[in-house]
Amino acid sequence: MLIAGNWKMFKTQAETRAFCAAFEPPEGVDVIICPPFTSLVAAVESGLTVFAQNVHWADEGAFTGEISTAMLKELGVAGSLVGHSERRQHFGETDEGAARRAAAALAAGLRVIACVGELEAEREAGETEAVLRRQVSVLEPHPQLAVAYEPVWAVGTGKTATPEIAQEAHAFIKSLIDAPVLYGGSVKPENAAELLAQPDVDGALVGGAALEPDSFARICRAARAA
Ligand code: PEP
Repeated sequence: MLIAGNWKMFKTQAETRAFCAAFEPPEGVDVIICPPFTSLVAAVESGLTVFAQNVHWADEGAFTGEISTAMLKELGVAGSLVGHSERRQHFGETDEGAARRAAAALAAGLRVIACVGELEAEREAGETEAVLRRQVSVLEPHPQLAVAYEPVWAVGTGKTATPEIAQEAHAFIKSLIDAPVLYGGSVKPENAAELLAQPDVDGALVGGAALEPDSFARICRAARAA
């Protein structure tokens, strides 16, 4: 089981150190935190496994605001998210861009969690499988690649996919690519166990509930129990 906490644009270095000092993850669960770029070093120093929230495909160059694989590796960062729905929605990132980011990070020896998921309107229009197929088909399978199924209508909204909806989407994604599939979208200590109990749910990508050490630790313990 893999449980990753995406902190989005939350936590300064001091707040990161305070979280890490209080956070007690259980043994036997692959626990990852994804702080903002400026808090990566503080997180790495805690000894936890740390991913960035994004990474660029080029080794270096005129890409203002971007970070390379070498820059992350120099800090001791183990991997990166790519294609998060907030990157797609607010910053115009595309399936192809996410795939290029993933391929470059994997080639550089980083682990990757590639995020996919349909909009609410796409689900209502019966397009979920077509959207997932489009997003997943650009990814190359790799032993260090995990996919996160994050229905966009459930990310940061408090609306969670039912375990049945998650299971169905995960099984579909696994029919497209051989990779562990994490569920993301308003995972909390209260709903983690039933989501993680689904046969094709291999972990979780947690946003809001990963900001507080006790609630994130409770989700990690639910993963160990599953
Ligand atoms: C996320 O940021 O990937 C996420 C799933 O957020 P939340 O858990 O807050 O919905």
